[in-house]
Parts: sequence; structure tokens; C-alpha cells
Amino acid sequence: ARLDALSEQEVRALDRSHVFHSWSAQGAIDPLPIARAQGSHFWDYSGKRYLDFSSQLVNINIGYQHPKIIAAIQEQAARLATIQPAFANDARGEAARLITAVAPDGLNYVFFTNGGAEANENAIRMARLHTGRHKVLATYRSYHGATAGAITLTGDPRRWPSEPGQPGIVHFWGPYTYRSAFHSETDEQERDRALAHLRDTLMVEGAHTVAAIILETVVGTNGILVPPDGYLEGVRRLCDEHGIMLIADEVMAGFGRCGEWFAVDHWGVTPDLITFAKGVNSGYVPLGGVILSDTIRATFDQRPFPGGLTYSGHPLACASAVASITAFHEEGIVDNARRLGEDVIGPRLRELQEKHPSIGDVRGLGVFWAVELVRNRETREPLVPYNAAGEAVKPMLAFAAACKERGLWPFVHFNRTHVVPPCTTTPDEAEEGLAILDEALTVADQFVD
Ligand code: PLP
Repeated sequence: ARLDALSEQEVRALDRSHVFHSWSAQGAIDPLPIARAQGSHFWDYSGKRYLDFSSQLVNINIGYQHPKIIAAIQEQAARLATIQPAFANDARGEAARLITAVAPDGLNYVFFTNGGAEANENAIRMARLHTGRHKVLATYRSYHGATAGAITLTGDPRRWPSEPGQPGIVHFWGPYTYRSAFHSETDEQERDRALAHLRDTLMVEGAHTVAAIILETVVGTNGILVPPDGYLEGVRRLCDEHGIMLIADEVMAGFGRCGEWFAVDHWGVTPDLITFAKGVNSGYVPLGGVILSDTIRATFDQRPFPGGLTYSGHPLACASAVASITAFHEEGIVDNARRLGEDVIGPRLRELQEKHPSIGDVRGLGVFWAVELVRNRETREPLVPYNAAGEAVKPMLAFAAACKERGLWPFVHFNRTHVVPPCTTTPDEAEEGLAILDEALTVADQFVD
């Protein structure tokens, strides 16, 4: 049967009968069947169109059905659909060249994976072998993936069911001025106190036992936490002082999301390892990887690297990355993301903050913004409690429903909505979505004390 001849009912029935979904109580979900997608929009089977302010899972940086990527996948499939990683392959080599060309200087090698979690697994493996140390420091309020090591690195409730997890992973607090773990009132205080806290953590853990510090350059799902200027530079200095590898998880923040090729470019910081996935090819074919420094690569010059994946550097994935990065260059997509943040999304969200008592904080850069909703601006009590479920999340569900009714697909996490559209969104589309957000926020305002 032709798949595109299936009705909405048939698609839903197949899903309900045979598909087991991520992160969900299987009986409590009703996944919306999607008929098609183009640019910044997708459509359901009733023909209703949604402007995507979520980029799927903050993934589709280049928008839906970009013709250059579709053509590259089709051409590669016709030429060579797959080849195992031990061979050299044109698409794989060119993808690695293009990725390292936009990475900070001194990071000239790529190990390819199928996604972000595997990238983080291999990055910590590389750091451990390179340093001969075992311990890894990761932040609270983070997400690094759902495989054994990556979920242990994760600093949010998704880790809890997998505990005790992998030994030797220690969590510390990163900067978050609005809900400071250090009672800071300014970004400068938060930067200094968070760095002092990290220095103390290293002291009591024994800095010489620490292989790596891993952090999301700009924290994604846990709140678009943009580090204060100087924080990442400070972490870099602490790593250098103690021979610790700095791993920047740019699975969500990289490839244009922050209005830069990599979020670290915003501060000019060079990590030892960068992990990526999502925006590298907008998930048209699963792809992730680790970008390694020349120094770490040298460790494995004569000594075998003990890790690999059947699909590492898959030609279809790599050909789509080549087409995507080329289109990013040709179409000025990183600049578009930066300008959208500076000229449209940032200023408009700050106007909404003036108007809506439910908005406690607005923060972000590029096409990576959080609107944090509160019951009370003075106390900053969140509109719904941390990790709430059931009845307690009603205000956020009501807000999301108001967006969806009006044709906007929002990203919602805890008491926040994230404005994370594709990097290719036009200013008019962004304005249209923000106008819907404005209306939906009046629903959130009703829950304010
Ligand atoms: N790291 C970050 C920062 C992420 O946001 C994600 C996914 O959302 C991951 C890692 C895991 O990536 P994947 O789902 O491709 O394994």
C-alpha cells in the first residue's frame, strides 16, 4: 500500500496498535498524525497548518523539506546508500571537512555518531582515555541524552529512573541568575559565584581525578540558560589549570541556533571536544558526532580508539550534512538566526513581558529563547511547580492549547515556553507567531495570583 494513501484514522490506528513512544505512559497519549511539512510549517490531516515555534525537538534548524537537502539525499541514495565506517567515503570526508571548517581553530577531526547521546558517550570516553582519569563533572539543569552514560550526566528528572547510573559522574550548579543557586542578584555576581562554586567542587572532588567538565554551552531544554559573559572563559581557565578536558555539548545550541555556527563562538571559547547532532543536518537523516582537538586526536594516533558504531558516518546522513552546511553558507542562515533574535524575537518578547504579568523572565539569543512563566513576579513562584504532573500542569496545558488553536506549535517545558523556530524563519513568520503568543499569554495571565 502507498503510505501517502493512508487516512488519518489508519495512521492513528497503526501508531496506537504497534508504536511504543518515548518518555510516555503509552495509554495516556494521543499522538497527532502529521500529513506534511514545508519551510516553517507542518499540517495535520484535517489541513490545519501550524507555524512551528519548536523546530520539532529544537532540531529542524534549516526548516522542513529544504530542496537542496532532499536532492542530496536522493542523489546519494542512488549512488551509494551505505558503506561501513572502516572505508573512506567522499560524503563522510567532505562532511567532516565542512564541520571542522566552521569549528574553532585546533578542532580538526570528527567522530560521527547517530545522535547526541552517542556523541556525549564517546566524548567522555575520549576524555577519560586521553587524561587517564575517570571522573566527569556535569551540571544540574542539563540534558545530555538517554543512553547509560548520557542519562547519568543529565541534571534533570529524566535521570532519576536510571539511577544509580554510571559511577564517577558528579553534578555541580551552573549559572542561572533568575533562580540563582548562589542568591545572586546580578549576572556578574552569578558568574563569579558559579565559578567559585566550581573551583570548590574541583577542590573537594580532587581536580587530578577529573577527566572532563561537560556543559551545554547555552543550556537548552532546562531553560535556555545563557551563561553570563566571562563564565565559560572562567571554566576554560579552571580546566587548563588542572589538565581537565572541556566538553561543550552543542547538540541543541550549535549550528545556527544561537546566531553563531557554534554557541562557543559567542564568547570565543575553544573547548577540547564539541558534541553535535540535530542542526548539523536538521535531522533529515539521523546524525551526530564529536569534534576533537588535534591534541586528543594525537592520543589515538598509534593507540586504537575503543569505540565505534555500524552507522558511524553514514553516507546518507553525511551527504545531507554537506548539503545543509553548504546551504547555510549560501543562504546566510546563521546571520538570519542572529538577526531574528536581535531585531524581532528579543525586542518583541521584552514588550510582551511589559504587558503580561505571567512573564517572569525573558532570555536567549539567536532563535533560542525562553519565556519563563510565574504566578507572582515578586516571589518568582513558577506558574507550575518543577517537574509537575497531572492537575498541576493545567496552566501550561491551557497556554499550549491556546497556541495550537491559533495555529502555533509551541515548545513547552515545566513553567516555560521556548521560542525556538527554525533558523530560516522569516521576520514576518516570527511576528505572526509572536502575535499568537501574545494572545495565548492572556490565558497564562489568568493563573497569576
Ligand atoms: N544533548 C543535548 C543538549 C540535547 O538537547 C539532546 C537532545 O535533546 C541530547 C544531548 C541528546 O540527543 P539525542 O536525542 O540525539 O540522543
